[in-house]
Amino acid sequence: MARPQVVIIGSGFGGLFAAQALAKAEVDVTLVSKTVAHLFQPLLYQVATGILSTGEIAPATRDILRNQANATVFLAEVTRINLDSRTVVAEKLSKTVAYRYDYLIVAGGAGQSYFGNDHFATFAPGMKTIDDALELRARIFGSLEMAELTEDADERRRLLTFVVVGAGPTGVEMAGQIAELTQHTLRKSFRRIDTTSARVLLLDGADAVLPPFGPELSAAARKELERNGVEVRLGALVTNVDATGLDVKYSDGSTQRIAASCKVWAAGVQASPLGRTLAEQTGAGVDRAGRVQVNDDLTLPGHPEVFVVGDMIALKNLPGVAQVAIQGGRFAAERIKAEVAGHQPPAEFKYHDKGSMAVISRFGAVARMGKLRLSGFPAWFAWLFVHLIYVVGFKNRITTLLHWTITFIGRARSERVTTEQQLVGRLAVKQLGEDFQPTIAGTLEPGKIKH
Ligand SMILES: Cc1cc2nc3c(=O)[nH]c(=O)nc-3n(C[C@H](O)[C@H](O)[C@H](O)COP(=O)(O)OP(=O)(O)OC[C@H]3O[C@@H](n4cnc5c(N)ncnc54)[C@H](O)[C@@H]3O)c2cc1C
Repeated sequence: MARPQVVIIGSGFGGLFAAQALAKAEVDVTLVSKTVAHLFQPLLYQVATGILSTGEIAPATRDILRNQANATVFLAEVTRINLDSRTVVAEKLSKTVAYRYDYLIVAGGAGQSYFGNDHFATFAPGMKTIDDALELRARIFGSLEMAELTEDADERRRLLTFVVVGAGPTGVEMAGQIAELTQHTLRKSFRRIDTTSARVLLLDGADAVLPPFGPELSAAARKELERNGVEVRLGALVTNVDATGLDVKYSDGSTQRIAASCKVWAAGVQASPLGRTLAEQTGAGVDRAGRVQVNDDLTLPGHPEVFVVGDMIALKNLPGVAQVAIQGGRFAAERIKAEVAGHQPPAEFKYHDKGSMAVISRFGAVARMGKLRLSGFPAWFAWLFVHLIYVVGFKNRITTLLHWTITFIGRARSERVTTEQQLVGRLAVKQLGEDFQPTIAGTLEPGKIKH
């Protein structure tokens, strides 16, 4: 009898852990992903701020699964899922491929949401992909380089103003790291600018940073951010973003224009559009973030052979975190294994909350684990330990530890390379280059910045 075919969409936490959990099952696993790597998103901000290299947080999926004989990896973007014919259609360059499945696990994750203002993306990249992190790296270090070149005091102030929108873990970590860069790491690296005069603003429409961590840790995080020079502005709704800055409306009704060259968008997520196509075919509901309402066993209504896991699901208010995806992927694999072996499959997905953490500064973090609440160094140490365990691959663990030692003990950043392609990745930076008139003789002529 032919072995059951399991198709998995996505090589993130949900997809990869599902594939690995099927290693010993009597099935063939086909993992289709639009990216070649398994991306460890929680450390993206460290790529953006020059701590880690891309390879350390994004090892090739093909390599991770190379010893798993029943797994085949394809690089392609899934464009259609046909539930009636049980086929997945995917494309790469001009090639279209179709995969037939007996079981399907959809783990397409989520992208950034600009709450209906997608044009903001041009000027304030999100933080979801390696491309985003490298572009932000180019923008952060590029702004400082341009500030070093300009003679104009207002322009210098604008180039030395960094704004992070969204005070969740990603925003807090980004703001903290940019402050660390400007206040400490790069302090002696420039001659014409004083990087410690740079402003780092963290904006959020809510009235607290890191609200899910609870009031105690939220207050501790805010205090630590401010101690490190981050200006925290709450009740602040961003109403417009353009090349030269952004407009903010505060909860007291006042408005403000902030001139800033480098903006980071860390507010809001939108589930993979694959969720909507599944919902349309089954009548399942989708929430405002495009997440599909799945059954308690993570299957789609009327389709016990199709599982949706991770950031794409709306189920019992589960958060969009790595553990939901990991545990969901493993649960789907367990169900498939049990069915194939003729056993009773587990009935309901039960999420075990292992807590959450955010790094605020060098040696400073907040952590919530069960009833335990930690802040400062103990939280940072717990963060170090947990993240080292989840970094994939022994070699990556060693190099990551090395980079962390360099950064946290010596304050250096060894991964600062940016390319022109990253810098001119979006219109905003192109515009930045066009607007900018260098004035130092013998460096660059106006208009000669390449696009
Ligand atoms: C910056 C950042 C920081 C975070 N920090 C934390 C943290 O500290 N702790 C925590 O628990 N969680 C954190 N998260 C959340 C966590 O990373 C996600 O919850 C988790 O990655 C979700 O796993 P997933 O498998 O659902 O999706 P993902 O890991 O996003 O994987 C989605 C996969 O699907 C692929 N894909 C998407 N669309 C298609 C398509 N059409 N065709 C083929 N492939 C496709 C993608 O290439 C990717 O491989 C963070 C997220 C971000 C962005």
